[in-house]
Amino acid sequence: MPTQTSRRPSSGRRPYSGSGKPGSSFNRNRRSSGGSRSGGSRFGGGRSGGGNRGGRGAGGGRKQPTFDPSQFINKNPIQVEEAVYVPKHTFSDFGFHKDIADTVAKLGIENPSPIQDQAIPLIMEGKDVIGLAETGTGKTAAFLLPLIQKTLTQGQQQTLILTPTRELALQAEAEFRKFGAGFKLYATSCVGGTSIQPQIRALKRNNHFVIGTPGRILDLIERGNLRTERITNIVLDEADRMLDMGFIHDMRKILSGVTKNRQTLFFSATMTTEAKNLVNDFMRSPESVSVKKTDVTNSIAQDVVPYEHAHKFDTLLALLSKDELKRVIIFGSMKHSVEKLSQELNKNGIKAESIHGNKSHGQRQRSLGAFKSGNARVLVATDVAARGIHVDSVSHVINYDLPNTFEDYVHRIGRTGRGVHKGQALTFVSKK
Ligand code: AMP
Repeated sequence: MPTQTSRRPSSGRRPYSGSGKPGSSFNRNRRSSGGSRSGGSRFGGGRSGGGNRGGRGAGGGRKQPTFDPSQFINKNPIQVEEAVYVPKHTFSDFGFHKDIADTVAKLGIENPSPIQDQAIPLIMEGKDVIGLAETGTGKTAAFLLPLIQKTLTQGQQQTLILTPTRELALQAEAEFRKFGAGFKLYATSCVGGTSIQPQIRALKRNNHFVIGTPGRILDLIERGNLRTERITNIVLDEADRMLDMGFIHDMRKILSGVTKNRQTLFFSATMTTEAKNLVNDFMRSPESVSVKKTDVTNSIAQDVVPYEHAHKFDTLLALLSKDELKRVIIFGSMKHSVEKLSQELNKNGIKAESIHGNKSHGQRQRSLGAFKSGNARVLVATDVAARGIHVDSVSHVINYDLPNTFEDYVHRIGRTGRGVHKGQALTFVSKK
């Protein structure tokens, strides 16, 4: 488990358990086999239709978003056709250092994923690149591999990777340890919500890659611990989420302080106006590649769970008494209600963990670990805390509190449609 202040060379290969095996989702391009019902239309026209931005789910006396319950029902999920993506390149076409190519091969990764296939050649040419791709598409390797190559061959390189959450920073660091194994390259992560002192110490040494969340990175720059004049490459990972989370000013300040003569890579699932402005202001003639995943909502079985206010929790317990709910993520609207819900579930004999913004970084990692390993059957989460996490084989997503927007709904239920395991999404809807 990488720690957020570790500054280890990326040796220490781990057994690869990722999705680079045959049958990986990269070998398929999910396509609806007809009757495509766009997510937007399900919500009364418009991607944010129905969801009151800023509204909140049940509890705490806050205003509840108004959705038509039928929007959460899809009893006949469409069987998805599996079309094989045929990459134009093999890993040996990219011109990587032999050791990089060997590392990729040893990880069992045979073919570039679509984002890798399209973005790597451009990044290798030194271009600024906008990659429209979500987590799970192999986007981290798409930027790490060419940047590792650049660092090995061009000297004096330092890459700053900005991510929206601590979890994502650690995931990027873990990917770096996988793909950069054996090169004597150093990386450190600097995330908020944890002591800054070890990070300051780690930054005193030479780090080829610095990975962090915008607030903490800016803090370290302003304290003089991270020297922007050394940074030659910047990656904005999940830029849309960073913008969603209100990091725009921090991002702009960081970008303004780093040499214009840098390579900037921008990865985002969506391209909002704010994102476009950022791109226009801070990137040099960027090339765009897009591998947006097909909307998986059509392929996920969805249903509502009507409840009466007085019996909401009992309704949940009854649901969880079914064996088929093997690995369940429950979404709640607020940090404290999420915590309370997981405590109540444990009191009722259901092993549950929680992740939300009131937990320390270590606590969140432990909760996630317990859920991933199967020690806990249930993970109760807020939307923000759940972003960027990867958990395989989630059988059910339960929206105990309503999401605020369509995007949140899609994002939540997408947790269960990963890989070959099709799950189910259940949304609690008040009877009155
Ligand atoms: P990401 O989208 O970067 O979060 O990557 C998701 C997972 O896919 C990670 O575990 C990667 O190591 C793995 N991965 C990256 N590239 C490939 C590839 N070409 N084929 C299969 N798996 C990959």
